[in-house]
Amino acid sequence: MRIQVLTLFPAMFEGFQTNSIIARAIGKGVVDFSAVQIRDYTKDKYGRTDTPPIGGGAGLVQKAQPIVDCIKANKKEGTHVILMSPRGATFNQNMAKKFAKLDDLMIVCGHYEGVDERVNDYIDELVSIGDYVLTGGEIPAMAIADSVIRLLDGAITRESLDEESFDNNTLEYPQYTEPFDFEGKTVPAILYSGNHGAIAKWRRKQSLLLTRKYRPDLFDKLTLSKADLKLLEEADSGIVPKWEADAIEKGKKFMH
Ligand code: SAM
Repeated sequence: MRIQVLTLFPAMFEGFQTNSIIARAIGKGVVDFSAVQIRDYTKDKYGRTDTPPIGGGAGLVQKAQPIVDCIKANKKEGTHVILMSPRGATFNQNMAKKFAKLDDLMIVCGHYEGVDERVNDYIDELVSIGDYVLTGGEIPAMAIADSVIRLLDGAITRESLDEESFDNNTLEYPQYTEPFDFEGKTVPAILYSGNHGAIAKWRRKQSLLLTRKYRPDLFDKLTLSKADLKLLEEADSGIVPKWEADAIEKGKKFMH
């Protein structure tokens, strides 16, 4: 997959490209990532890319010509062009999955007071990362590129992507690491049981409970199976069911 970010501040992407999972994915050829300088395309004799808005008003607005010429010079047939904009649909995991299926994604960053309205005619989709205003589209572009790249084959292990938060509208279950006892807070015994069926059931229950607690909006959209309803009923009753009690007992033998 190719991802190009069109920006007035390509240096902001140096750290993004040279660290951790994204650097590895680029190194392995999983993604061809670049940050393209919009200013290189301006025809203004002073190299300007932005001017005060016509009709008056605060700040500077990015001119259409440099952005549109930058888009035209770098897109090919089939490139999906998105503009970072508070006006766009709010980015989510489903959009990340949709973008990860593309061969070529172009992310255009606004800055200052935003872009000349006519730029929109060269854009396939407007995308926001939430209802707040940032100084520019660079951080939103990084958020989007990051969430897309990690979904690409070869970026991280497939197993890491299974059962992640937002898959099927649920939040991920809690995870623990050694030591068993950290400042008096211990790992749930069931996780030492070696009973994979019971662990999976417990994790599903935790996932449902966390989603209900922290994201009732997502929880309301869930289609709960009979098994899910039973897990919630068990949790709400406060009585530990036999399958769980047995696995906890087994786990206690291996706790350390
Ligand atoms: N004057 C604009 C308004 O009120 O909608 C805000 C412009 S903002 C300061 C500059 C640029 O940052 C925008 O053109 C956009 O590219 C980017 N931006 C800011 N907040 C964003 C958000 N929540 N999601 C996506 N892009 C954002």
